[in-house]
Amino acid sequence: MRLSRFFLPVLREDPREAEIVSHRLMLRAGMIRQETAGVFSWLPLGHRVLTKIMDIVREEQAAAGALEMLMPTIQPAELWRRSGRYDDYGKEMLRITDRRDNELLYGPTNEEMITAIIANDVQSYRDLPLNLFHIQWKFRDEIRPRFGVMRGREFLMKDGYSFDVSEEAGRAAYNRMFVAYLRTFAAMGLKAIPMRAETGPIGGNLSHEFLILADTGESAVYFDRAFLDKDAAALQVDYDDDEAVAAIVADYTAPYAATDDIHDPARFEKEVPQERRVEGRGIEVGHIFFFGDKYSKPMNCTVLGPDGREVTVQSGSYGIGVSRLAAAIIEASHDDAGIVWPQPVAPFDLGLINLRQGDAATDAACETLYEALRNAGLEVLYDDRADRAGEKFARMELIGLPWQVIVGPRGLKDGKAEVKNRASGATQEVSLNAVVARMLDACTEPPGRG
Ligand code: ATP
Ligand code: MG
Repeated sequence: MRLSRFFLPVLREDPREAEIVSHRLMLRAGMIRQETAGVFSWLPLGHRVLTKIMDIVREEQAAAGALEMLMPTIQPAELWRRSGRYDDYGKEMLRITDRRDNELLYGPTNEEMITAIIANDVQSYRDLPLNLFHIQWKFRDEIRPRFGVMRGREFLMKDGYSFDVSEEAGRAAYNRMFVAYLRTFAAMGLKAIPMRAETGPIGGNLSHEFLILADTGESAVYFDRAFLDKDAAALQVDYDDDEAVAAIVADYTAPYAATDDIHDPARFEKEVPQERRVEGRGIEVGHIFFFGDKYSKPMNCTVLGPDGREVTVQSGSYGIGVSRLAAAIIEASHDDAGIVWPQPVAPFDLGLINLRQGDAATDAACETLYEALRNAGLEVLYDDRADRAGEKFARMELIGLPWQVIVGPRGLKDGKAEVKNRASGATQEVSLNAVVARMLDACTEPPGRG
């Protein structure tokens, strides 16, 4: 992509409305713009990040056996009356009436809708298990939308739902999602810690939240340092092997970890030696629940079992805050100059900077590199604008692409470009004809995924 043809409205000044660094940087880097409280447009740079996050979510969901579908944002109120949640949900739910006076709502979550689909279309135990997910916008009329997309009112969520014939099978489905979440967040370059959680309005008795550490997180977290030494990116898993999956869950739930909602200081002190106790703040990026028949019972979601008798289906639900993740990743990875994208979610692999736009030799060298890098399959943002070098550097640092390839007349005399790593700031002179190989090497995904 040529910057001259891209839409990247960067801001020089810190926007006054932004209280936390991710919100500030997302606005400054031209990723998002607010439309009304808690509702945002995603500009091209932000949209590319959102897409990368969704790709990673999809890949691991598929590996774990979940099927993608798409349900609407608008739901009939009647569905929610059947589960009994229509009145409980209160003012968080955006209620809408259409021209025929039908009562509708903008979905805050989809347990009712998917349970009704399964109740209608699945008759036999032979058709289970099923795990269905979608990535769709949600609306919750939060009392205090704040921190940009971190706590929006309209936000993008991946929500999945499992359906099984027995509690045992349902728990195995829960475990698969638990492990899929560990791998998903690790693939984004995040260390997410699973913490036992309260189930809240979704209900049920088994639940974990996945939190990443950040000073600006809304939850206080207390956990055993052992989590910091675990590397979920290296987890190998056979999702067909229930016991092996359960063993990973056991390993990741053994050390103490809790958010302030259910934190038990006495237990913390008893179970975790002082030097291993960590207290900090965290951002909830995922939340999983096993709630058995909480929705299937009132909504008559049953199947015929092997013995010909009707059994009520056992379910769980599994959410990932896709749009919140874009901000959470920035909270976890930035410096004074701007964002520092982990490679897997970066909007482009690298930025190619032409230091003397209009100089024939520099332009020619950049054009050649731009084409060669793209032909090698890399995603390149080519800064071909006629701005001052200082402005180009500052903008490229701000938007945080993992690598920069800098081409100017001085280096070109020796046939060289400068390669800079955004995270470490380390630079290296590289021969023009070695740049592609160097970048391919640098940008290839680390092992452990897929
Ligand atoms: P929170 O405790 O942060 O209000 P929640 O527990 O109400 O979230 P869930 O129903 O568990 O949310 O939703 C699944 C995921 O969706 C959450 O883990 C979070 O990452 C994301 N999410 C929830 N509410 C918002 C929001 N207002 N803005 C952005 N993302 C959100
Ligand atoms: Mg939650």
